[in-house]
Amino acid sequence: MTSLNPRLHIETPFVESLPLSLLVDGHIMLKMESAQPSGSFKLRGMGYACRRYLEQGARRFIASSGGNAGLAVAYVGRHLGIPVHVILPETTGEAARARIQLEGATIEVIGRTWREAHLAAQASLRPGDAYLHPFDDPLLWEGHATLIDEIAATGWRPHAVVVAVGGGGLLCGVMQGLERAGWHDVQLFAVETVGTASYAAALQAGRVVRLSQVSGIATSLATDSVCEASLAWAQRRAITSVIVTDEEAQGAARRFLLDHRVAVEPACGAALALPYLRPRILHGIGKTLIVVCGGVNVIP
Ligand SMILES: *Cc1c(COP(=O)(O)O)cnc(C)c1O
Repeated sequence: MTSLNPRLHIETPFVESLPLSLLVDGHIMLKMESAQPSGSFKLRGMGYACRRYLEQGARRFIASSGGNAGLAVAYVGRHLGIPVHVILPETTGEAARARIQLEGATIEVIGRTWREAHLAAQASLRPGDAYLHPFDDPLLWEGHATLIDEIAATGWRPHAVVVAVGGGGLLCGVMQGLERAGWHDVQLFAVETVGTASYAAALQAGRVVRLSQVSGIATSLATDSVCEASLAWAQRRAITSVIVTDEEAQGAARRFLLDHRVAVEPACGAALALPYLRPRILHGIGKTLIVVCGGVNVIP
């Protein structure tokens, strides 16, 4: 099955949140990446990176994520007519495996953690294969940045942006988009959960560190370390790290479902926990953009 969609990702809704605006006594706008056909913003970066690798001669795409990154690559491969092979860690659940296979990708289970699957994927590359890293690739960031381009095109300008942070790919894309728009003084809030706080650890240490273990329900944030580029941004721009609990992340996701009728993963709930459960942090800021990053691993 092939498609003529030249972009793969869609231009997502950009909507006001009245309930959240009232909570923070400001103006909150939402970028609804949950509306992407693969369920998350990952489609932006993966679509862009896959196209570039295709131009460079790739004949097969290899991924190492059982989550939204693997799913986005599988979606892109199906639409470009390119085979996709995803090497998954044992922790990937049955539903996630099925979703990736539904997109026509083949899967293989290697390793107990994402890092083990990632190393196995890199070691398996043959001529004609392109490896799609889930967060550490400048091509990926270039694609993610388009979500800010879409906002800049509306003429609305935020004073602050809230993003969830896993490996930091979304953060890098958002920062790149802000630079491109000429918005150098936007405050960025980088939110993680207690069990996945690899960005907070890097900021504190002043270098990228590897957590001895990751835990909790925000599986899309569960990388044991962030990319170097995400830390480099914190040395140049105003970035505030915030850590929320699993309960706060899931509670925010539930409230968001009621307020905006959209189901999101706990990873996305982490970002939403800022206005819902820590609203004082956003008081007095004025205009805040929340990247509703989405995700298919929704907990009911
Ligand atoms: C990948 C992902 C994240 C984290 O993005 P990074 O680029 O790894 O920081 C957050 N939320 C969802 C839904 C994701 O799929």
